[in-house]
Amino acid sequence: MDLTLKLADVPQNLKKRFLRKKLRELQLVNRVDKITDRCKTLITLANATLKLARKFFRCEFAAMLFTDREARHRQFYLAVGIDNAQNEAVLRLKELLHDAVTHGIGGQAVNSNEGNQLFPADYAVLSFAVSERLVGALIVGGREKKWTDEDLHYLSAISSQIDNGLEHAFLMQKYQRSRRLAERETRKLSFVYEISLSLGQEEDFAALCRRILESAMHLVDVNRCSFMRYNAELDELKTEFAIGIPFLKSQMVFRMGEGLAGAALKEGRPILASRGGRDLRFIPFKNGASTEEFPSIVNMACIPLLVEGQPMGVLNFSSTEADYYVTPDELAALEVVSQLIVLAWQKQRLYNISIKDELTGMYSFRFFRQRLQEEMSRALRFETPLSIVMFDIDYFKKFNDSYGHLAGNLVLREFANILNESVRFGIDVAARFGGEEFALILPGTDESGALCVSERIRKVVEESPFDFNGQTLKVTVSGGVRQLESGMMLDDFVKEADRALYVAKEGGRNRIVVCSSL
Ligand code: GH3
Ligand code: MG
Ligand code: MG
Repeated sequence: MDLTLKLADVPQNLKKRFLRKKLRELQLVNRVDKITDRCKTLITLANATLKLARKFFRCEFAAMLFTDREARHRQFYLAVGIDNAQNEAVLRLKELLHDAVTHGIGGQAVNSNEGNQLFPADYAVLSFAVSERLVGALIVGGREKKWTDEDLHYLSAISSQIDNGLEHAFLMQKYQRSRRLAERETRKLSFVYEISLSLGQEEDFAALCRRILESAMHLVDVNRCSFMRYNAELDELKTEFAIGIPFLKSQMVFRMGEGLAGAALKEGRPILASRGGRDLRFIPFKNGASTEEFPSIVNMACIPLLVEGQPMGVLNFSSTEADYYVTPDELAALEVVSQLIVLAWQKQRLYNISIKDELTGMYSFRFFRQRLQEEMSRALRFETPLSIVMFDIDYFKKFNDSYGHLAGNLVLREFANILNESVRFGIDVAARFGGEEFALILPGTDESGALCVSERIRKVVEESPFDFNGQTLKVTVSGGVRQLESGMMLDDFVKEADRALYVAKEGGRNRIVVCSSL
């Protein structure tokens, strides 16, 4: 029966049946109308409409697709009654819907595939314009009863009823997406701003790097990240620290070109491995003979860190959850992060250069003063003893004159080693004061303790011959010890130790003098 007719044109004997069908149509339209009132998001609206269609036509499945004419890649597809795992069926449905949209099939009813095994065997499909910009198609199928023009009529009643709702929901989704993007951009900017501020503060590289990476993880929504440092001499890429990665796994060591991280380093550009652990370059973790079970990585981004073109390390961001992954857009943000880390690294390197003496690798005078000031405040506050020792190599000018400057340099380095090995790591500070003068800061140590330490050092030097080009050479050192007294200023404190050193020189050298004995 042609349901598009006017009642007046319907023959008298069919009027009652016609009206019954028209009532059904009205009820259907009314129900779809209620759905569009209730469902404001694309997915809920489409889902409710498809469920209703399936019930109304008493069929197996219903599906919908619509597409943006201006941006062909922007599409929306949903099906009910079809298992998404049935890839073939889903593909075929999409294909049918696509055809309908592209060729503008006003309505088509197919009832048998005549021996052809293609899915679906029977269906009714129809395309419709959602708005000027959006076109869509609806398909219903899978039932015993034949599909007729009446069904197509009902299908078009549904489509004409949902177009407004769909457009509204589509625009809402677009709006929300752009709002999310804008929010993300804002997050990105404020992140970069925050980090650039912290780059200006005195903070060591490890702490800064960790903080940058923690923020970066929020920026891109991954649940794991690590920083691997590359040692070019050993050709080793090792994890320096990791967030969210099992300890054993973080202990893996790669060579240049090995694994995803090694490959990124070798190529000198980021790798976005969307297949994660299934990427051919990925090296799975092995613990001895057994392969430990870890959640598999579904997505991974590796960004090489280059300092002046030289490989310094790799940042890895990965995810073990399908919902969290790095997109190509985000990869660009992570490259900014890597630049920040390189900056932090360069800053640390410059700082190290400025506080370390090049010849001996010891702290320089500048750092010595800074640390001494800190230790003096601490000693006064907690009323703990604090001592310093000044060392000077005896007759060093003569030594240089006799054996040459290079031999002199060797002595300076050897003496630096002896000093470093003689003090408590992380507590005492040994520094090169300039020329052949060295100094120690000994927190929590009184004059007699400091004398003990410096005597031991003096003895070691006296008893350690140096080998220079086959010649066995010896030097001695003198030292002056001073304990901090309250009210003493830094310069006076150092001068006093120097005074004791002078007395040691006057007294014949190769000896330690304590201030209190003067
Ligand atoms: P004293 O026992 O009184 O300390 O005699 P000295 O010769 O060690 O005293 P002085 O301070 O006059 O000489 C210090 C010498 O240290 C002068 C310089 O040749 C040498 N010197 C300073 N810096 C370096 C350096 O970086 N390398 C070498 N090889 N020698 C240095
Ligand atoms: Mg000197
Ligand atoms: Mg000297």
